[in-house]
Amino acid sequence: MAKETKKASKSKAEELKEKLFYTKKHATLIMSDAEQKKADKYCEGYKKFLDSGKTEREACATAVEMAEKAGFKLFDKNAKYKAGDKVYTVNRGKAVIFAVFGKQDIENGVNLTAAHIDSPRIDLKQNPLYEADELGYFKTHYYGGIKKYQWTAIPLSLHGVIAKNDGTVITVNIGEDEADPCFVVTDLLPHLAEEQYKRPANKLITGEELNILIGSRPFKEDETSDAVKLNLMNILFEKYGIVEKDFLSAELECVPAMKARDVGFDRSLVGAYGQDDRVCSYTAFTALLDMKGIPERTAVCVLTDKEETGSDGNTGLCSSYLKFFLYDLAENGGSDGRTVMTASRCLSADVNAGFDPTFPEGYERKNSAFMNKGIVVTKYTGARGKSGTSDANAEYVGFIHSMLDKNEVVWQTGELGKVDFGGGGTVAAYIANLNIDTIDVGVPVLSMHAPFEITAKNDVYMAYKAFSAFYKSE
Ligand code: MN
Ligand code: MN
Repeated sequence: MAKETKKASKSKAEELKEKLFYTKKHATLIMSDAEQKKADKYCEGYKKFLDSGKTEREACATAVEMAEKAGFKLFDKNAKYKAGDKVYTVNRGKAVIFAVFGKQDIENGVNLTAAHIDSPRIDLKQNPLYEADELGYFKTHYYGGIKKYQWTAIPLSLHGVIAKNDGTVITVNIGEDEADPCFVVTDLLPHLAEEQYKRPANKLITGEELNILIGSRPFKEDETSDAVKLNLMNILFEKYGIVEKDFLSAELECVPAMKARDVGFDRSLVGAYGQDDRVCSYTAFTALLDMKGIPERTAVCVLTDKEETGSDGNTGLCSSYLKFFLYDLAENGGSDGRTVMTASRCLSADVNAGFDPTFPEGYERKNSAFMNKGIVVTKYTGARGKSGTSDANAEYVGFIHSMLDKNEVVWQTGELGKVDFGGGGTVAAYIANLNIDTIDVGVPVLSMHAPFEITAKNDVYMAYKAFSAFYKSE
């Protein structure tokens, strides 16, 4: 009995520790049963989004479809808008901006979230089709940072568009349906891999070995060279009406042909391709879609392309398309672009590395993000002495922390790995360069950039809660 009493009342040291020390909290232990149910249900929608948008084009189209159902209309810079109006604008089918007009004057700035809908994958080369030893293949050039050996011997699907000479654009999506065929990069059998094993891991499979097996039966009518290639081209002509030259103006992308699934006996995790960064895209976007009432400041969500290759190109955030939209919003509301941008704030929504206990050597525990400990707030990214980061100022970091606390969002801080162990960047710097207060937030991920990435459902839900609160912040 005496023992129990002692346990129940905290010692002075324990009390002080609780008051003075920073500790990360496990979301599951804080959430009520009702909230847990809500989080699990929310992730059912998330998994559907992952399955229907495996490329930037598909994710963009899926998001637009959802937005239109929720009453968003195509933005017209010359129209008159009032608080509560919902608009969107699409950039070349690969990036999209959504906005909900706020009560306050546009001059006070916007609350902006930015996430990316492109993910690492294997793109076809411009002239991809060939035959070798009576097997048909596509040559590829991978997109983004992948560990190439992870992409062999798994079913792949093919997505994208073919722009034909006559101006028609054909949409390709093959390998997702159970009844579809799929494709694969073959790997050498272990029996003969003695020499391959001596290669460094980043060359275990080289870029030029990422060849995609697409067929093996020759054209039968009469004997000819390249009969397998001919048979494949003939199938493609019959199915899509394309000739080999049409590949030169195509964008075809190979991605894992797997569906999003629950992971773990407790179903606490989501496993899927492309969660970097569709997890932040979905949470940032649906938080705007589900927003109740009219926000104080105008709320904007951009889902961008090209983050994985450095954000260059007209659909990436080094392009001016976001700036131009903010200019249009400003002028539409009787202000000017630079005033609006200077007064705006942004959450750069991108994933962070979740601490992996199997590989602790890559992480510094005190400053790493942990699975289930909530959305990660990252003041700076970059590598080699913070190179390439925007490094949010302390005042803005403080503002975000207090907003998250007030709205009972479980959150943590996290830096991507140990100092000088590598590193990575996000779109934060490009938005901060517009003179917008910007900080990185996101969901911790295990096996980032692998064909099957892992997130925790409660972190996904906390991201949604965080973005919902941010849009409403004054
Ligand atoms: Mn990312
Ligand atoms: Mn990435």
